[in-house]
Amino acid sequence: MYLCNMSKVRVRFAPSPTGGLHLGGVRTVLYNYLYAKKQGGDFIVRIEDTDQTRFVEGAEQYIFDCLKWCGMEPDESPLHGGPYAPYRQSERKETYKQYAEQLIKDGFAYYAFDTTEELENMRANFKTPENPSPQYDGKIRMQMKNSLTLSTDEVKKLLTENARHVIRIKMPAQEIISFTDMIHQEVSFDSSLVDDKVLLKADGMPTYHLAVVVDDYLMKISHAFRGEEWLSSAPVHILLWKYLFGLEHMPQWAHLPLIMGPSGKLSKRDGAKYGFPVFAMNWPQAPSASDPKTNELAEGFKEKGFLPEAFINLLAVLGWNDGTEQELYSIEELIESFSIDRVHTAGAKFDFEKAKWFNQEWIKKLPVSHYQQRVKDLFESKSILIKNDTHFNKVLELVKERCVLLTDFYDQAVFFFIAPLQYDEASVKSKWDNTKSDFFSELIARYNLIADWNLISIETEFKNLATEKNSKIGELQMLLRVILVGSKMGPGVFVIAEAIGKTETVNRIEKALVNFSMF
Ligand code: GLU
Repeated sequence: MYLCNMSKVRVRFAPSPTGGLHLGGVRTVLYNYLYAKKQGGDFIVRIEDTDQTRFVEGAEQYIFDCLKWCGMEPDESPLHGGPYAPYRQSERKETYKQYAEQLIKDGFAYYAFDTTEELENMRANFKTPENPSPQYDGKIRMQMKNSLTLSTDEVKKLLTENARHVIRIKMPAQEIISFTDMIHQEVSFDSSLVDDKVLLKADGMPTYHLAVVVDDYLMKISHAFRGEEWLSSAPVHILLWKYLFGLEHMPQWAHLPLIMGPSGKLSKRDGAKYGFPVFAMNWPQAPSASDPKTNELAEGFKEKGFLPEAFINLLAVLGWNDGTEQELYSIEELIESFSIDRVHTAGAKFDFEKAKWFNQEWIKKLPVSHYQQRVKDLFESKSILIKNDTHFNKVLELVKERCVLLTDFYDQAVFFFIAPLQYDEASVKSKWDNTKSDFFSELIARYNLIADWNLISIETEFKNLATEKNSKIGELQMLLRVILVGSKMGPGVFVIAEAIGKTETVNRIEKALVNFSMF
């Protein structure tokens, strides 16, 4: 194993600002974050925006908003500053060039002047049934237009003329490149199978491969946990480390297994396809090729009604466990229990039903005051103004057991604030007759006389009257529920009557007497 000789743990999340932050991205941040916090280390966010063609306006701010919502504040970032600023790669352009030139000087890289047309010709001419998509590699490079095939004078001339060119790594002919991954253990690659990746582009910007190595070195990154899709790039990065800085400085890597969706690797499009969120927060979907005018919003976990505690928890256990049966973890418990060597090597399957279970558990676990503001905003967005927070909290407490998503609070609690606009007619029809209507008319009179409106007095008056009338209590209670709620749902019916108050209870019974007579 290449041991890192730096004492301080420094991890980084290095997103490219190209779109919404999806489940896999947040899980990558989370594992980095947990590892760093457990070791008392630093968590750095570096924005990898060197591919200007994929840059998406607003994506960077969105990433920081998501991190904030998840409770994972960086110690260093373009927004938080830090000793290794700038943390945006586009602002570090000049830094990379010197390293690319250093590689050329040392014989590990070369200038390539091939035009797009020449590259296309190469792909067409070298195509064989065994090799349908030839790459710019050791077998082909000597037949292309680069500083290995042109004379020194020709190269000089082209460079002086500012001819369009890139810098490519010169992959060694036959070398086994290996490293120890913290999850996959020993991993080896055959250098002859890897192409001569571009390191510096024609616009002077580095590619990801060069920039990631240079920045991980300059920012003293000790551990780099990233998605498994980057494993195939590891041989290029290892060579760059070897050529530029020495392998002893290379961070320890962990390549995190993929998150699987209902049909293979979870994709950003699975959200729309299967009806569950894939992004942390709402993200405007780019117009699709089939309909360039659509600018749909892909619903995020936040807006779907997830608590950040649940979101973090469900992501943490998606591909990791601590060897016990425990499923619910707070972020503090995760920091305590997390270890990278218990991350599974195989992809983890995302199950939305299980995700909802986590949210339900966290709704029950946390005091309502913790999410009261979000539910209040939801009510207010539906034009129900909450005037009394204490009363609101009490109501939320009454229904929290019934809510899976924060958005469920609306349906579960709206009748505490407004009288039903319609009734479950079917339930009323078969039970409503003159005796019921007499009962409720008399109940109004009895309720009006109650001086101390509380659970006991409300229930006692109701039951006494039912006994006097020799009526079935169960049926009457069901009808009272439909009167107060509109349907057969909700917590205890007398609890509801107590919470909405005497005047409102009486008003709703009066209104129902009129409405039910018409069924
Ligand atoms: N910019 C890369 C990405 O978008 C980062 C990969 C890495 O962490 O090395 O995923």
